[in-house]
Amino acid sequence: MQTETTEVLLRHALEESGQRFTEQRAAVYRTLVATDQHPTADEVFLAVRHDLPGISLATVYKSLETLVGCGLAVKLTYGDGSARYDGRTDPHHHARCLACGRVTDIEGSLPGPQLDMLRERADGFLVTGYRLELSGYCPSCAPRASVSA
Ligand code: ZN
Ligand code: MN
Repeated sequence: MQTETTEVLLRHALEESGQRFTEQRAAVYRTLVATDQHPTADEVFLAVRHDLPGISLATVYKSLETLVGCGLAVKLTYGDGSARYDGRTDPHHHARCLACGRVTDIEGSLPGPQLDMLRERADGFLVTGYRLELSGYCPSCAPRASVSA
C-alpha cells in the first residue's frame, strides 16, 4: 500500500471514531500494514523506533489499541495472555506455529453448508462471524517437532 493512501485511510478512520491523528499512531499503523508477520507489541515497538526514536512502549501499546478500536487492525489473542496484531482486516484465517509462535495468513472461507451446520449446532447463539486458526508446526519447526514428538 502506498504511504499516502495509508495515511488518508488512517486519518479518516481516526476521525470517524473521534480520535486524533498523531505521528505515533501513523508510524505504528505504517509498521502494521507493511508486514504480514503479525507482530507482537514489542516487535512493533522495535520497528517503530527506527522512525520515531523517542516513542515509548506504552505509546505503542495505546496506539495499537486505538487502531484496533477504529477497525484498522485486528488483535489476535492467545490463551497464554500474549497478543499479536494484524494490519490486514479483510476476512482471512491464520495458521499458528506451536513451537515458534509464528502466525501466517491462510486464504479462503468455509463453504456455506459447513457454516450453516455449525450455526445450527450453536443452539440459539446469534452468529455474526467466525475465525479459524490452524495450529501445528511451521516449515522450519516441523522437522524438529516430529523428532521430539
Ligand atoms: Zn515455527
Ligand atoms: Mn493475518
